[in-house]
Amino acid sequence: MNSNRLVIAIDGPAGAGKSTIAKKIADILDIEYIDTGAMYRAFTLKVLNSNIDINNLDEILKLLDTTTIEFKNRHIYLDGTRVDEEIRNNIISNNVSQIAKIKEVREKMVELQQKLAISNNVIMDGRDIGTVVLPNANYKFFLTASVEERAKRRYKELIQKGISNITYEQILEEIKKRDEIDSNREVSPLRKSQDAYVIDTTNKTIDETVQEIISIIEGR
Ligand code: C5P
Repeated sequence: MNSNRLVIAIDGPAGAGKSTIAKKIADILDIEYIDTGAMYRAFTLKVLNSNIDINNLDEILKLLDTTTIEFKNRHIYLDGTRVDEEIRNNIISNNVSQIAKIKEVREKMVELQQKLAISNNVIMDGRDIGTVVLPNANYKFFLTASVEERAKRRYKELIQKGISNITYEQILEEIKKRDEIDSNREVSPLRKSQDAYVIDTTNKTIDETVQEIISIIEGR
């Protein structure tokens, strides 16, 4: 247990509301927020921009060696360039799980994530935070929602961004595929930590879930 610091882990599948909720909690508690999915997305962006075959492990590992990923004020930088927008692209969403299942990629990202959490009060979201990255976190939450609800949220998000060349059915299929790869990979798959509080957000608003988490943390 991190007795002097507040360390909160949030895991769950795509679209469960993790990042929106984690950001709000970070603001309320005035602690750091670290979006680990953004790190896997940033490296995926680099692989795709490099025009190497996504199945060419040797080339991917060479690229990994020369990659730096940093967070500054909640912005993500890939080799010194801010990439907040680019990493949210649907092409990245559809390829990130393939990259995130590579053992060496995970080792590098996990090391970085643990360093980021070493001396700060943090809330970190991802797939393996409670199980692998921060197993001694003070609080662990596992957010879920039905796959249809998660697809509906992602679809709404894209429509709000003005992206209209994709259907709800396509998003549903993409999320199912990502869940399947993330849950069945060999290295640190998406799993609920035994000691995590499970919150099903299907019929809850963001603020209701935020309040539920804050109440647990404040012991109310
Ligand atoms: O959280 P987000 O949906 O942006 O994550 C993108 C992808 O990054 C996930 O689908 C998963 O493949 C990978 N990821 C991971 N481990 C984490 C966070 C994300 O494997 N801790």
